[in-house]
Amino acid sequence: MNSFNSLEALPSGEWNSNIWPPFTQVPLSEPPERISKASGALLFRDNKPPLIDAISSWWVTLHGHANPDIASAISSQANQLEQIIFADFIHPPAEELAKRLSHATRLQRLFFSDNGSTAVEVAIKIACQYWYNKGDSRSQIIGFEGAYHGDTFGAMAVGERNLFNQPFEKMLFPVKRAPWPATWWDDESVEQREEEALLTLEKLLKTPTLAVILEPLVQGAGGMRMVRPDFLKKAAELVKQGNSLLIADEVMTGFGRCGDLFASQRADIAPDLMALSKGLTGGCLPMGITMASESIFQTFMDKKPEATFWHGHSFTANPLGCAAANASLNLLENNPKNYKEFEARHIKHLKELTKHSRVEKPRVMGTIAAFDIKTNESKGYLNHAGKQLKQYAVQKGVFIRPLGNVVYLLPPLCITNEQLEKCYKTIENGLNDLF
Ligand SMILES: *Cc1c(COP(=O)(O)O)cnc(C)c1O
Repeated sequence: MNSFNSLEALPSGEWNSNIWPPFTQVPLSEPPERISKASGALLFRDNKPPLIDAISSWWVTLHGHANPDIASAISSQANQLEQIIFADFIHPPAEELAKRLSHATRLQRLFFSDNGSTAVEVAIKIACQYWYNKGDSRSQIIGFEGAYHGDTFGAMAVGERNLFNQPFEKMLFPVKRAPWPATWWDDESVEQREEEALLTLEKLLKTPTLAVILEPLVQGAGGMRMVRPDFLKKAAELVKQGNSLLIADEVMTGFGRCGDLFASQRADIAPDLMALSKGLTGGCLPMGITMASESIFQTFMDKKPEATFWHGHSFTANPLGCAAANASLNLLENNPKNYKEFEARHIKHLKELTKHSRVEKPRVMGTIAAFDIKTNESKGYLNHAGKQLKQYAVQKGVFIRPLGNVVYLLPPLCITNEQLEKCYKTIENGLNDLF
């Protein structure tokens, strides 16, 4: 990774000497800014104008910061029951959430954990033990090129092998991979790439496979790589024909992000397991959920001890998280237009931006819009172009965090037209001034 060394060190400010920041090349980065208050789409800084949070604080803040409905749901729950061991006990907010999510996803069983990575870990473990419980020794898992499923070991293993997990490569279980036929506006070769991907998947599925895991419609961290709903539908059919289980990692795509309540619904696929987090609590509290079909659950009902799912987290189904999630679902149910009609808002602006000569591969899915900056540098996460644009945008009051040369907007649903326009205008000005 010589690109590490070739990066010029940025001017250093004050770094907190106790905090170890996530996903940050500390010696090459500016110290983080302090945020003590946020509201709607705005982040308030000390002695500087506010920033528009154009990426929903790492894709979690769904309705906007400090949403009063969610805040009051958390507050009243905190005065009622803040935490309870979830073996031996259940509680009303979990019961309500379970009923609503199983209805919404058509997957009957909920297994609670703490975050997106654990929701994925649980899905993989359930899939694995499902076959074990049936006396079937299959072990192959299939994922997709470019996938990201989280940072714990199992989640790293099913994700793309890259710079981020290089030090752990020896410790990761083997995963077979099919190509991900990512597409964009006016993409002329998509059909051919889809066909090749499906052929590879079909071939791999000839070996008994315990699960196929994918991010429905949009691969997030891999670079906002979008596929056509029809491709997913065909892939899901192959998984069914191949007698395997389909895991939909909807950690990013769930809760309206892709224009429908779940990306699986927009693609018309019926996964056997689904991982949820991020927007689940409206982005207010950490919580993960793995949805499973009733038929999977039933294979764990044998009385012999090894058929039990021996897995649980201290904060399983934390009541505050459940209360936030229920309040967030109310907001989604009461205002479905907010996510159903977001795509049109992006399209209008992105069409304009596409005229810029540095913009390539424009694409939109629901509330997510993305494009690549045309650059001569090698692509990937360490590409400079996005970093430069980020610095520019932050100076102008818009917080973006490009993935290498991939620029994307993934704003909270509450973002106003004026704020969204400012995001696009700032990006356009940045492209003009910088490149
Ligand atoms: C963010 C993400 C994860 C991991 O979630 P964490 O809460 O960060 O552990 C898993 N899968 C996808 C698709 C994600 O976008």
